[in-house]
Amino acid sequence: MAQPQFKREESVPNKRTKESAIEKSAGADRLRYFSERQSRMVETIRELVEIESPSDNKPAVDRIAAFLAAKFEAFGGRTRLHRSNDFGDSVQIDFAGPRLGSVNRKPVLLLGHYDTVYPLGTLANMPCKIANGLLRGPGVLDMKSGIALMLHAIEALQTWHGELPRPVTVFVVSDEEVGSHSSRKITEALAKQSDGVLVLEPAAGLRGAVKTARKGVGEYTLRVQGVAAHAGLDPGKGHSAILEMARQITAMAKLNNLRQGLSVNPGVVRGGTRSNVIAAEASVVIDVRIKSAKQAAGIDRKLRSLKLFDKRCKLELKGNINRLPMERTAGVAALYKKAQDIAHGVGWKLEEAAVGGGSDGNFTAGMGIPTLDGMGGVGDGAHAVHEYIVISELPRRALLLAGMIEAA
Ligand SMILES: [Zn+2]
Repeated sequence: MAQPQFKREESVPNKRTKESAIEKSAGADRLRYFSERQSRMVETIRELVEIESPSDNKPAVDRIAAFLAAKFEAFGGRTRLHRSNDFGDSVQIDFAGPRLGSVNRKPVLLLGHYDTVYPLGTLANMPCKIANGLLRGPGVLDMKSGIALMLHAIEALQTWHGELPRPVTVFVVSDEEVGSHSSRKITEALAKQSDGVLVLEPAAGLRGAVKTARKGVGEYTLRVQGVAAHAGLDPGKGHSAILEMARQITAMAKLNNLRQGLSVNPGVVRGGTRSNVIAAEASVVIDVRIKSAKQAAGIDRKLRSLKLFDKRCKLELKGNINRLPMERTAGVAALYKKAQDIAHGVGWKLEEAAVGGGSDGNFTAGMGIPTLDGMGGVGDGAHAVHEYIVISELPRRALLLAGMIEAA
């Protein structure tokens, strides 16, 4: 029933204070729930880290896919393995929403990857272990702790509500570290059916910021074909592919525009056969980063129109912009606002960050689906020997994820 206008106005401040007090105590209860389960979360992460899963080893990655499928099925999810010949099988798990009410709510997509950059056998020199409140191991930050958070947030919501409050789709891909070639289309199709996407990649920095913007990423290979000749007998007859490539690299360096967030990095060069031969072949692998989608076509065109310095050489450019940037759209900002509110409920000032690295969140955000990235573990050393997560951060990361599954 409608109340008299003046009364409603009067009651608003009181109601708000009361509501935020209730939110605070609910937040504290949830934080306590996860704090009591902190060591169980650590054990889940350890289980995942101890199944080594380099992107390029199909038997290894398929093993962890099967393991994860069983883990999520134990919570009532319906699993579908997306078979791939060249990469591991990516795992999709669908959870139904509540049996009654809000039947029309679309799922939220929890996105992650189980592949790592570490070759099989890395555990022998880089074991999974706890020391000084840190959990170390290959892939612990990027991003096996993120997968563990999904499992524990789903379990918590089922415990609190008796069932999941809305449909949830989990998609854990096999090939993120090598470009997501086998999984990209599926990620995009699932994102399209979802209200929002939460990416469980590591948080930004030790302050645990979520990621609301990521640069777009491109990879190109420039091959130069020259004319070989004996460096001693016929130096004038050769056309050095290496010399031409060196000039091309200098030309490429001029395409950098760091102020506008555009960078071009010749990261790997190869060429030549012997010191006494004028090189007939050379190549360079180039990493390109862009801040806005608008920059994609321009840099692509400029790379394709690099001009020969030595007309007797030939150039061949392959590659493209693989991931468009994740831009901080209104949808992204709205998700961040919701995350801030949840964090606020436990006195936590959740920050946001824009980062240079890409993830599968670039795909979903690029389609215009609200995406919040960096929802996973807090730590340092992704892809490096000192990779770790901060164990004491796990409870509030889980709390945040559970809250965002409800709210996204
Ligand atoms: Zn990652």
